[in-house]
Amino acid sequence: MSKEKLDGLLKSLVTKALKLEPQSDDAALVASCHSKFGGPPYAEVGDTWPSCPTCKKELTFINQIHNEIEQQLFVFYYCNECFPCGFGDEEKGQWIVKLYNEPSRSKIVEINRISNDEFAPTPCMVITSIVEVLPDWEGIASASEEVSELCCKINDDSPWEEYEEAVERAGCLNDYATLLGGYPRFVQSEAGPACPECNSEMIFYAQVDSEDEANIMWGDVGLVYFFRCPVHKNQFQLELQCH
Ligand SMILES: [Zn+2]
Ligand SMILES: [Zn+2]
Repeated sequence: MSKEKLDGLLKSLVTKALKLEPQSDDAALVASCHSKFGGPPYAEVGDTWPSCPTCKKELTFINQIHNEIEQQLFVFYYCNECFPCGFGDEEKGQWIVKLYNEPSRSKIVEINRISNDEFAPTPCMVITSIVEVLPDWEGIASASEEVSELCCKINDDSPWEEYEEAVERAGCLNDYATLLGGYPRFVQSEAGPACPECNSEMIFYAQVDSEDEANIMWGDVGLVYFFRCPVHKNQFQLELQCH
């Protein structure tokens, strides 16, 4: 009975996300508007390859994600030397997100690094699929107190197991993955940064998993999370979590 109630409560919280699975592919060796890892990034007139303000080395282009709903391309660069985790005292520019509106083939310009990149990901295109997701156990406490309390009632010793089973029953993704939208699946504790411009609570935008295929490893099999201001749509905050 309680399990049925739990399943019912979860139904309204299920949302969709875009799952991106990298697959090594020579098509990633050219700049494009598509989602991909490594290879040359999408860039437009006026862009140059970004460098880290701290160590002065050129950043690594990690990946780009085509957001079809917003007609935007999200392009992510990162400094593997400085290894920023998103803390407030880190110098700005150790990671960069560039957001391009209405990206198109005709706007692409080639930008190149001067130095070789020892951290460059293996060039990969991505296989995308729409998946249904629910918050993780940490996230459900703030999304629905009723759900977390019900799980505690059903299984007092390990309520999170009860919750995970319910997530499985709902047919939702129950693993780490690179995602656009949906809910973050945290390695450590819940995070929700505030916008530096307006102090609004930022909204989860995407997460980039450690991806063997693309040769990307965040610390010890961690993930990078991106949050965006609901008002200032170019304001992103990064958070890196690992085991
Ligand atoms: Zn650096
Ligand atoms: Zn803001």
